[in-house]
Amino acid sequence: MTPDIPVETYKTGKLPTWCPGCGDFGIWMSLKNALSKLGIGSDDALLIYGIGCHGNMYDWMRVYGLSGLHGRGVAIAQGAKMANHKLPVICISGDGDCLGEGGNHFIHAAKRNPDITVIIYDNQLYSLTTGQASPTANTGFKTKSTPLGVIDTPINPLTLAITTGATFVSRGFSGDTPGLTQLFIDAIKHKGFSLVDTIQPCVTYDKIHTYQWFRQRITALENDYTPDNRMKAMEKALLWGDKIYTGVFYKEEKPTSEDGETALTDTPLVEQPLGVPDMDTLLSEFI
Ligand code: SF4
Repeated sequence: MTPDIPVETYKTGKLPTWCPGCGDFGIWMSLKNALSKLGIGSDDALLIYGIGCHGNMYDWMRVYGLSGLHGRGVAIAQGAKMANHKLPVICISGDGDCLGEGGNHFIHAAKRNPDITVIIYDNQLYSLTTGQASPTANTGFKTKSTPLGVIDTPINPLTLAITTGATFVSRGFSGDTPGLTQLFIDAIKHKGFSLVDTIQPCVTYDKIHTYQWFRQRITALENDYTPDNRMKAMEKALLWGDKIYTGVFYKEEKPTSEDGETALTDTPLVEQPLGVPDMDTLLSEFI
C-alpha cells in the first residue's frame, strides 16, 4: 500500500445517477478521501454493496467490488474476510438493507467481531423503491408506506451495535465530509467490527429531515468524551431531538473472529475439507 493515492484512481469514467444534492455524494467523496489517505488502492480492498441507492456506487468506484443480494452484504463481507484475513473489507449498506432485510446478519456479525467495516447510508427510507419507511424511520414520520405516520419505535443502529458486541461504533453526517473522512479512516484502521452509521439526507423523498434540519441539531461529541463505556455511549447515542451527536461513541480492543480461528487451527477454515459424503451416498438414503 502506498500513502496518499490520488483520488482520481477511484474514477470509473461513469457519472453518478443519484439525485442532485443526495447525501450519497458526501459519503462517496469521504470514502475516496479516506482510502486515498490510508494508501488503499483499487486492488487493495473489497467493497461489498447491498441493494438501494447506495448500491449504485458500485458503478462509479474503481475498487474491487461485489454487489450482493438485498441485505446479505454483511454476510458476504464476513465470508470474504474469512477467505483473506489481510484484505480490508468494507460493507456499503442502507438502513433498510442493513437493518431490515439484513438485520440478523448485522447482529451476529457484531457479536463475532470480524475485522470488517460497515457503512450504513442512513436516510430512514427505502429510497430506491420511491420512499417507504425503513427500520430507522422516526415515529410519526409520514411516508408513502406510512401515510398516517410511523407507529412503531425506530431501530437505533448505534445502540443495537453496542449491545450486540461491535467494537467500534460511530455516527457521521454526509454534510460534513472532513469529519466523515476521519471517521472512515478510524473505522477502517480499527481491528474488529466497526460501524459508521452515516446520516444521509434523501432530498427527493424526505422534505422534513433536510440538511438544514440536521445542521441545526448535529453536535460533535464533547472533547472530553471517552468512548470506553457502554452505558455512557448508549446514553449519547439515544439522544435524537434538539441534539444529535456524531463521533465515536464506543471503542474496544478485543480478539477478532479471525484471531479466534487462527488460535484454533493453522489451516484456514476455508481451506479445510468439509467432510461431507458424496451426493450419491446422501441421496441413497431417500431413494
Ligand atoms: Fe439519494 Fe433519495 Fe435520490 Fe436515492 S432517491 S438518489 S437516496 S436523493
